[in-house]
Amino acid sequence: MCGIIGVFGSPEASRMAALGMFAEQHRGQESCGMAVSDGKLIRLHKSMGLVKEVFSDECLAQLPGYIAIGHVRYPTKGTATRFNSQPHLVETLFGPSYALASNGDLVNYAEMRSKLEAENVYFNSDNDGELLVKYIAWQLAQGQGIIDAIRLLMGEVKGAYSSVFSTRDELYMFRDPLSIRPMVWGKTADGTVVVASESCALDTLDAVQRSEVPPAGIIRINCEGITVIENDPNLYRSQRSNRYCVFEQIYFSRPDSHHFGENVFEVRQKIGAALAEGDSGLAADCVIPVPDSSNFIALGYAEARDIPLSLGLIRNHYIGRTFIKPEQTIRDESVRQKFNALPNFFTGKNVVLVDDSIVRGTTIRKIVKMIKNAGAAEIHLRVGSPQVCHSCHYGIDTPTREELVANRFSLEEIRERTGVDSLRHLDITGLRKCVESPADYCYACFDGDYPLEET
Ligand code: SF4
Repeated sequence: MCGIIGVFGSPEASRMAALGMFAEQHRGQESCGMAVSDGKLIRLHKSMGLVKEVFSDECLAQLPGYIAIGHVRYPTKGTATRFNSQPHLVETLFGPSYALASNGDLVNYAEMRSKLEAENVYFNSDNDGELLVKYIAWQLAQGQGIIDAIRLLMGEVKGAYSSVFSTRDELYMFRDPLSIRPMVWGKTADGTVVVASESCALDTLDAVQRSEVPPAGIIRINCEGITVIENDPNLYRSQRSNRYCVFEQIYFSRPDSHHFGENVFEVRQKIGAALAEGDSGLAADCVIPVPDSSNFIALGYAEARDIPLSLGLIRNHYIGRTFIKPEQTIRDESVRQKFNALPNFFTGKNVVLVDDSIVRGTTIRKIVKMIKNAGAAEIHLRVGSPQVCHSCHYGIDTPTREELVANRFSLEEIRERTGVDSLRHLDITGLRKCVESPADYCYACFDGDYPLEET
């Protein structure tokens, strides 16, 4: 998972992009980068680390221009190195000419890379974003215009890509036909165009008049204005319905974001209420969220059952999200440092503990142990999503089926191993009722029904 940002038309483009990336920091914490054009030259700066570490005031002052694209990276495919961080910049005979940042994974990366390598296109990374920009540059070198190059790209690559592409004087945004990852754009009061993965970044930049980038949409922004490019519908006939990632609503996006036509916090509250439906006979003293992504699910549950919501677990906000650390050893260490139970709070209490999902099962086991050690009498674990049984091919870090606890143990075994008195997940029928247009979502990590297979 990653976050992208694009800004066109502000002399403060690099500062705006940095603020937008900061708002999207939850989408990736391994590395970040920005490419900024002043109309003559595209300058690139990227590094491992957080936005506030990589982009100081002094650094941003070295990135003048009115067009900026930025990226925060969470590695799914490819190693956590600067080479794989984005944006990717292509140099031509005329110097740095094109830059691209993208969110999502391609399912036919290997096939497309072989094809380009056979055409003497060389790669410095194994990152999807580099493939996208090199494909466009390769088509431009064949004499195609930019719009046609992007159309040809979209006709060949398959998978999730919410992308921003910059030339020296234009900004383009384009999105895969299934719209798997979110992508919104808007305008500020002074006419600056901003595009982002999540609307919370647009809020930070005071961008209004918002729209989602449409499925298979291409939008060009230059000094003459904004052009929404019509795409050939036949080109995408086989991929022509939406498959928004439902995990964005459950876990990944910020609750103050609005995408796929819905407020994320409201979807989460509905999930909590749906979970509560099956628990009418369960006596409990309090509902405890695993902060922060489960907060609104727990709120929905607590309101539906009229049980107090208590913030019994305290999260250290200066540690990254455990789910998005790439190595298991780092992840385990992070759990111990990340949460703490309130002292003298849990003694003798019957607790409903609410989590958004169980992937590997390591985090929740440690949290349950912590709450037990704090004196809880009973712990009933409620999970706001079905069991994760399949890997994601489109940009969330569930790399192998073997790592998923749901594939290694029965539900009862997971309950025992977790150490809770009862365990229940929201089932897929219940989840589908929590979103406005259930047919437009991908649920493949729960049911294995992939909209696109890896090739
Ligand atoms: Fe989202 Fe799961 Fe589909 Fe991946 S497989 S896009 S995580 S719903």
